[in-house]
Amino acid sequence: MTDVAEGWRAVLGRVQAAATRAGRPGGSVELVAVSKLQPPEAIRAAYAAGARAFGENYAQELRDKAEALSDLQGLRWHAIGPLQTNKARYVARSAHVFHALDRLEVAQELSRRRTGAPLAVYVEVNVAGEASKSGIPPAALGPLLAAVRPLPGLALVGLMTMPPLAPAEEVRPLFRALAALGREHGLAGLSMGSTHDFEVAIEEGATVVRVGTAIFGERPPRGAPA
Ligand SMILES: *Cc1c(COP(=O)(O)O)cnc(C)c1O
Repeated sequence: MTDVAEGWRAVLGRVQAAATRAGRPGGSVELVAVSKLQPPEAIRAAYAAGARAFGENYAQELRDKAEALSDLQGLRWHAIGPLQTNKARYVARSAHVFHALDRLEVAQELSRRRTGAPLAVYVEVNVAGEASKSGIPPAALGPLLAAVRPLPGLALVGLMTMPPLAPAEEVRPLFRALAALGREHGLAGLSMGSTHDFEVAIEEGATVVRVGTAIFGERPPRGAPA
C-alpha cells in the first residue's frame, strides 16, 4: 500500500516545481487530491499531511464521505465527475466546488438546491472532439455560460477539461486550447491535469490540478468494499 502522506508531499513538490518552471508563483496552482473509491482512512492520512481539497466523482460516495469526515476542519470537497439532475442535491449540499458542469438543467438544479455560499463551478469542455465523451463542444460554451452566470446559487469560476488518456505531449494542445477559451470568455480558473499530465497542464496555465493515483496509489475497483 502506498504511503499517502509521502505521495501527497511528493506531488505537491512537483506541482510547485512545475509552477516555478513556468514562471508562476509556487502557490498559484491548487492541488486537489482525487480520493474517489479510496477509503476514508486514506483521506485522513492525506489531511494529516496537509491536504485540504479532495475530489470525488460519485455523488452518493461524496455524500457518505462528507458525513463520515465532517470532523475534519477546513476540508473542501470538489465534485469532479459527471452529474445527473436527480443526484444534484448531494453535490449542492456537500461540495464546495463542482468541476464538471455540462448541462443547463444540472446548473439550474444545483442553484435551486444550494443554500449558503454559492457553489463554485467549472464548465467542462470537450476540447478533443470525438475522442472524449464528457463536456460540451467549444462552440456551445458561450450560450451555456450566459445562462449559468445569472443563477444565484452558483459562482462561475472557470473551465475544466479531461483529455483522453494519451502521452502528455499529445494532450498539451488540448490544455492550450482550454486556456485560450478561458481568455476568450473572461474566466481565470482552469481545472486541468491529472496524474499523467499535470506538469504539462501547469505549463499551459492550469490553476487547479486533480491528482489521484500519484497520491493514493491505484484505486480499488468500483463496487469493491472500501
Ligand atoms: C479520476 C479523475 C482524476 C484523477 O485521475 P488520476 O489519473 O488518478 O490522477 C482527475 N479528474 C477526473 C475528472 C477524474 O475522474
